[in-house]
Amino acid sequence: MQIIKTITDLEETAGRLRAENQSIAFVPTMGYLHEGHVSLFQQAKALGDKLVASIFVNPLQFNDAEDYHKYPVDLDGDIQKAKSAGVDILFMPSLEEIYPGVKPGIKIFYPDTADKLCAKFRPDHFEGVLLIVHNLFQWIRPNTAVFGLKDYQQYILIKRMASDLHFKTKIIGAEIIREADGLAFSSRNARLTPEGRRKATKISAALFETRNAIRANAALTTGECHEILLKSLDEIPAEYAGIYDAISLEEIPRTLPPGKALIAIAAYIDGVRLIDNLLV
Ligand code: AMP
Repeated sequence: MQIIKTITDLEETAGRLRAENQSIAFVPTMGYLHEGHVSLFQQAKALGDKLVASIFVNPLQFNDAEDYHKYPVDLDGDIQKAKSAGVDILFMPSLEEIYPGVKPGIKIFYPDTADKLCAKFRPDHFEGVLLIVHNLFQWIRPNTAVFGLKDYQQYILIKRMASDLHFKTKIIGAEIIREADGLAFSSRNARLTPEGRRKATKISAALFETRNAIRANAALTTGECHEILLKSLDEIPAEYAGIYDAISLEEIPRTLPPGKALIAIAAYIDGVRLIDNLLV
C-alpha cells in the first residue's frame, strides 16, 4: 500500500493510473476505521482496478468545535486496517496541506435541503463535506466512489453534486454495517461510556421495530409510525426521529408512499451525536 501525503503526489499518481487505463475506485473517510469502512473498501475494491482511500478529519464539516477536537484518531491502526482491507493508495494529508491559508470562502450549498434532517441542526456541515469531497474528486477523478448509506443525507447530496458538476464519478451507496446488537458502527461509538453504549442499541432497535410494524401493517399512518419510533427510543433524547421521503427527504405527512421511505434518527448519548436510519 502506497501512502500519499500531498495533493501533488495524489494528482500525479491518479493521473498515471488513468494513463495506464486503470480504473480508480475511491472511498473517503475521516479515519478511526471500523468494519463499516472496511466493508466500503471491500465493495470499492471489486469496482475498480485500484482502490484509493483517504483519511482526513475535515474541520470544515464540524459545526461543533468540541466534536472536532474529541474526534478519535489512530493513524497507525488505520494504516494496518486499510492495508489488510486491500487499499492500494492511502491519502493521509495534514491539515496544512488541505487548508494552507484562511478558511476557504467558497461553499457548495443546497438551499432546498438546508432545513432537512442533519442539515437543520448542523449548519455548514454539508457545505464542509461537499467541498472536501469535491476537491478529492478533482484531484483523484475516480471512476467510482463508495459512500455509506448510514450518512444518508450525505449520500444524496454527493450524488446531486456529482451530477450537477458533471463529475464522471459513479456514486455507489453501501449498506449500513452493524454490531451484533444492531448498533451501527461509527467512529464516535468509541466515545460512549459502557452505560451509553448499552443505551445506544435503542436507536437501531427503534428503527427495526418501526420497520417491522410498517411491514406488518401497510395501512399505518406516519403519525402511528412516529409514535412507535418515539416509544421504542424510550428516554433517548432525539434531535430528530421520523419518516421521510427517501429522495426529497421531506417529512411524510400522513400515509406512507408506495416508494421508498426513510426512517431516520439523530440522538445524543453521553453528549455524542449518533445517527442511524433504515429504508422501508
Ligand atoms: P466517516 O469516516 O464517518 O466520515 O465515514 C466514511 C464513510 O464510511 C462514509 O461514507 C460513511 O457513510 C461510511 N460509514 C460509516 N459508518 C458506516 C457503517 N456503519 N456502515 C457502512 N458505512 C459506514
